[in-house]
Amino acid sequence: MKLPVYLDYNATTPLDPRVLDAMLPYLTDKFGNAASRNHVYGWEAEEAVERARRKVATVINAGTKEIVFTSGATESDNVAIKGVVEMYGRRDGADRKDHIITQVTEHKAVIDTCTYLQQQGWDVTFLPVDRTGMIDLEELSQAITDRTLLVTIMHGNNEIGTLQPIAGIGRLCKRRGVLFHTDATQSFGKVPIDVEEMGIDLLSLSAHKIYGPKGIGCLYVRRRNPRVRLAIQMHGGGHERNMRSGTLNVPGIVGLGKAAELSVESMEEESRRLTALRDRLSESIMGQLEDVTLNGHPVHRLPNTVNLSFAYVEGESLMMEMNDVAVSSGSACTSASLEPSFVLRALGVSDDLAHGSIRFSLGRLTTTEEVDHTTGRVVSAVRRLREMSPLYEMAKEGVDLSKVDWHAGTG
Ligand SMILES: *Cc1c(COP(=O)(O)O)cnc(C)c1O
Repeated sequence: MKLPVYLDYNATTPLDPRVLDAMLPYLTDKFGNAASRNHVYGWEAEEAVERARRKVATVINAGTKEIVFTSGATESDNVAIKGVVEMYGRRDGADRKDHIITQVTEHKAVIDTCTYLQQQGWDVTFLPVDRTGMIDLEELSQAITDRTLLVTIMHGNNEIGTLQPIAGIGRLCKRRGVLFHTDATQSFGKVPIDVEEMGIDLLSLSAHKIYGPKGIGCLYVRRRNPRVRLAIQMHGGGHERNMRSGTLNVPGIVGLGKAAELSVESMEEESRRLTALRDRLSESIMGQLEDVTLNGHPVHRLPNTVNLSFAYVEGESLMMEMNDVAVSSGSACTSASLEPSFVLRALGVSDDLAHGSIRFSLGRLTTTEEVDHTTGRVVSAVRRLREMSPLYEMAKEGVDLSKVDWHAGTG
């Protein structure tokens, strides 16, 4: 067993050796520019790009001309949201289209893009989520007006794993004539996605979350019913049907194609295996420790993700106590800051509990041995920290901590 145990697959994944093998020729001998039309170097690069395009498109039931390669999901989210707003938005007149709907637990790539647009004068609705991280379809329906031009709601959440009711959102958007974008970076390759069945108009994904290389992803852009057009965000040579100029990252694209193909091949089996390991981890921890709660939806959740709150302990101390396990804490997500996770806050988790939360995200290389090692480390670390916690002692003596006047006697 390699230490530290890596249980942070939602942050990034290792490159699958089969993906590296597929990429290598395009980093060495086959180095051509896919836009070179006059020689075999260009042709073989272009052919490789088109093969990869077909592989990615197949996974989501899209056409090859609907795939636009980008540098990753952050770029895809930006291109989709700003591209739609600049193409279709109108901020004055009786037929104004100036309204975007998103929700509070989106990835920062979506939240910050929407906040930026809000600062530019566009009207943005951030829908709330319930305790499990789900939006309410009825609430979404009521939020849509004649002025709404885009709904952007993620598929699988990166911190808690909750899967939004994408097909329901898609149907609603179709019926109301509103474009629908989804950030599917965490769900792509882990759960089935069908852009036709789910009524998706735009979809973002990234290779490095599915055992592909970093710095490559794509945006699905619907071509029929309706044909979605995007205002150009990157001007230049007109690559990718003029939606994203810049010399194509051929090895990256080949890697994304291979990673997508491998993910779909193993999806069913991998999903079953990871769900079992994920549940083994949480059930074993919760069986040995009290005051542990699950964050996220108990059922509609990514197969590899489990986010737990440990009352009376502090996430950073917990991570230090179990330093041979690589996980994410509920306060480290915006890295440098020690703000509690905005996602957990949005669920109504208290700041104290959010600080004592850990995200375990499992993946292709995770073994039962690693899960059991992690369980042991978590249980002993939490016990040790609680033994040192005056709060825990008070709670065990029956003191209602929510009623304690912490300032009494300080004069
Ligand atoms: C990782 C992630 C992103 C960012 O992807 P990059 O390719 O690293 O830009 C966006 N959205 C979600 C949900 C993610 O998990």
